[in-house]
Amino acid sequence: MTRTEKIQELLDAGHRIAYIAKHLGEHHEVVRRTIKKEKIEVYTAFDEINPHLVEVFDVWDYEDVLDNWDRMAWQGEIVVIPRSSSQTDTFTSGLLKYLKETYGGLREWVEKRKYYSDNFYVVCVKCEKELPFSQFLSRTERLSGINSSCSRCFYLARSEDAHRAAINRRRAYKAELPYIWSKSDRIEMRNCFGDRCYLSDKDDCDDDHFIPLFTGHGGTYLGNMYPLYFRYNREKHTKNPFEWFEANRQRFDLDPSRFDSLVAKLAEQNGLTPEEFREYTYWCFANPRNLTQIKRDNARYRRRVTSVELWREATGRTYETGNRSIGTKAFEEASA
Ligand SMILES: [Zn+2]
Repeated sequence: MTRTEKIQELLDAGHRIAYIAKHLGEHHEVVRRTIKKEKIEVYTAFDEINPHLVEVFDVWDYEDVLDNWDRMAWQGEIVVIPRSSSQTDTFTSGLLKYLKETYGGLREWVEKRKYYSDNFYVVCVKCEKELPFSQFLSRTERLSGINSSCSRCFYLARSEDAHRAAINRRRAYKAELPYIWSKSDRIEMRNCFGDRCYLSDKDDCDDDHFIPLFTGHGGTYLGNMYPLYFRYNREKHTKNPFEWFEANRQRFDLDPSRFDSLVAKLAEQNGLTPEEFREYTYWCFANPRNLTQIKRDNARYRRRVTSVELWREATGRTYETGNRSIGTKAFEEASA
């Protein structure tokens, strides 16, 4: 029997190239070349169709694959490294373990390929794109040594997480801060400020919280709400409204008298003078509360206490306008 016939016989019996090479005492590349040269028919090996039947792979199986990858990449081809996606994929996970033990890891093995290491690609589990190895962040605790998603997807997911957390925090603050915002409250607000942006007279406006919920102060009620052009609202975001207006009024060509009027109206709704209202706003920014602190204050008052009350308590400010009913009465009623 010639060597070619022997190879054919072993292939037909369902053996893989690594096994055949070992059996014949040849290098697996020699076997591979023989198969190609002699046009030997290659059937899919039996144990490759049923990977769970063969759980033990030897060094040659792994070296075979690595050699193949190395040659392809060196020749300028793109090698897509498979992921060990499941526990049934014993070959890939076995290969990764082998790489770890023998070469210090897949990453180390790839990086040793120096100037052609960028020909090794991995599929990102998020965007499912095939990307160079270098576009994955290092993760030493993983068998592959890299993140399962590319760095772009990784950072995207992280910023989405942060965004989601911010939205959740805002929702939680909103739920603990004073909230008197029925349909009629909203109508009253619009009657007071009009249906357009109060600062610019522009259409497309949001009901903006003058003192942002983010500070852990204010709340959603007549006295902290007014219509603001949605772009300004996005721009103002969590900034102190007094400072935001000063910094942006020229840029957006805004009329200071409109802002003064807004402050005067909100101040009145809170039972404060405009000067007090300004002080109170700055106090809120200087003394932000987290969720626990809001809850603690509410527990102390046995209702959702207004920040105006807390400001009075902290600063010892008396009721200069003499109008205690405005600003607190509604909240006492709402929590009764
Ligand atoms: Zn990706």
